[in-house]
Amino acid sequence: MRYISTRGHAAPQAFCDILLGGLAPDGGLYLPESYPQINRAELDAWRKLSYADLAYEILAKFITDIPPADLKALVAKTYTAAVYCHTRNGGDAAQITPLTKLEDGLYTQELSNGPTLAFKDMAMQLLGNLFEYVLDKRGESINILGATSGDTGSAAEYAMRGKHNVKVFMLSPDGKMSAFQRAQMYSLQDANIFNIAVTGMFDDAQDIVKAVSNDAAFKAKYKIGAVNSINWARVAAQIVYYFQGYFLATKSNDEQVAFAVPSGNFGNICAGHIARQMGLPIARLVLATNENDVLDEFFRTGVYRPRTTAETNVTSSPSMDISKASNFERFVFDLVGRDPAVVSELWAKVDKGQAFDLSATVHWSKMPDFGFVSGKSTHIDRINTIRFAQGRYNVMLDTHTADGLKVALEHRLPSVPMIVLETAQPAKFEETIREALGQEPVRPVDLMGIEKLPQRVDVMAPDVEAVKRYLVERL
Ligand SMILES: *Cc1c(COP(=O)(O)O)cnc(C)c1O
Repeated sequence: MRYISTRGHAAPQAFCDILLGGLAPDGGLYLPESYPQINRAELDAWRKLSYADLAYEILAKFITDIPPADLKALVAKTYTAAVYCHTRNGGDAAQITPLTKLEDGLYTQELSNGPTLAFKDMAMQLLGNLFEYVLDKRGESINILGATSGDTGSAAEYAMRGKHNVKVFMLSPDGKMSAFQRAQMYSLQDANIFNIAVTGMFDDAQDIVKAVSNDAAFKAKYKIGAVNSINWARVAAQIVYYFQGYFLATKSNDEQVAFAVPSGNFGNICAGHIARQMGLPIARLVLATNENDVLDEFFRTGVYRPRTTAETNVTSSPSMDISKASNFERFVFDLVGRDPAVVSELWAKVDKGQAFDLSATVHWSKMPDFGFVSGKSTHIDRINTIRFAQGRYNVMLDTHTADGLKVALEHRLPSVPMIVLETAQPAKFEETIREALGQEPVRPVDLMGIEKLPQRVDVMAPDVEAVKRYLVERL
C-alpha cells in the first residue's frame, strides 16, 4: 500500500515514511492510493475476532512495510484490557470499545476507556508504539513539539511516556485548563516528557509551535516532529472501532448501522467514512458539531467557510472548538472523485481564509452516495441532553457525547441501530456536569486525587526564542 497526497504533487510513499511526518511536501494530506475492499467472507471471519486481532487484520491492509509478525505484536501490546481499563456502565474492558445500550437500537460506544479518558487514546497509544518501533529500526530520534488545550496533549504524553528516542515538549495555556487536565499532564514524572505552561491563551501556544515548525533549519537540526490529528496513522487506527461497533450492535453482516460522531477536526468521522468506503455496512454517518458549526454548515449547504479566531466560540464541549477542520480535505478529495487539481484549487482559497461553495457543482450531486447527515448542538442542548440521558437511561454523558446524542436523535432510521461514539468521560468536564445534574461525575479509582500529586511544569512567556532555547538545552 502506498500513500498519495490530496494535492497530487508529492511522490507516493510507504506507510513508515509518512508515519513521522505531517503534511505532504505539496501541502496536502496523505491518503491510501485506494481503499482496501472488504468482502463478505472476510467480514464474516472478522466478526469472531478480538479487538486486537481485528485491529491487526484491518491495519495490515494499510501497513504493508512492517513485517506481519512485528505489526501483530505492536497491535497486541497496544489494545489490551489493562490499557483501556476505565470502563463504565458495566462495559467489558476486554472488548476495548464496548457498547452501552441506551434502549433498543440506540447505543453509545465507549472510546474513552484509555489512560486519559478521551477517544484520542485509541489512536495515540498505537502511534506511541509505532514511533518507538520505526525509530529503533532506523536508529533515529524525534522531538515532538505540540500545543494543547486539553485532550490531545495528555493523550500524546501518555502514549509517548518512557518511549525510546522520543521526547515530548507540550505547550499549554497557563491556568486555562481544568485542575484535572493540568494534573493529568503535569504529574507525569517521565524524563522524556516536558510540560511548558505559556502565560497566554491556547492560540499563543499554537503560534509558537507554528513559528518553530516554520523554521526549517531548526526543525531539521533538532528533529522536531508533531503528532497532530492529520497524522494518517491516527486516522487508520480509528477505522478499527467502527468495525468493532458494527459487530457488537448487529447479529449478522446483512444488517446496517448508523454512527453519530461528535466532530471537530473531522479525524474521527473521516475514519468512519473510510470504513464505509471499505464496505462496512454503514447506512448513515451523522456528523454532530457544537456552536462551532463550520462542518454542519457544509453538509447542509455545500458551503465551506473557515471561521476566524474571533468567530470561534469557547464552548462547554471544548475539544470541538475549531475554526476549520484539519482533516476535512481528505473527505473532499474523495467527494470530488479524487481529483487533486480540484482539491488544490479549493484549498488555495481555504489557505487564504476564503470560503468555497460546491452546491452548484457536479460534486455536490454525489453527496448522497457518501451517507452523511449533520446537525449542531448548543450549550443548552448539551445540558438538556445530559439530563435526558441521566433521567431516561441512567447513563451519565460527557458534553461532547451529549452533542452526538442530541444530533443522533434527529437522524435515526427505522430498524437501523444508531451508535453514538462516546468521545470522553464526564469526569473530564466536572463543571458542566455539575451545572446539568447538580452532582459530581464519578472518577475512575486510579485517578482519584491526582490533583494532589507533585507536578512538573515550567512556566514561560509566549516567546519563540525562549522556547527554542528551552528545547536546545534539553535535547
Ligand atoms: C478531539 C475530540 C473530538 C473531535 O474529534 P475530531 O477527530 O477532531 O473530529 C470530540 N470529542 C472529544 C472529547 C475530543 O477529544
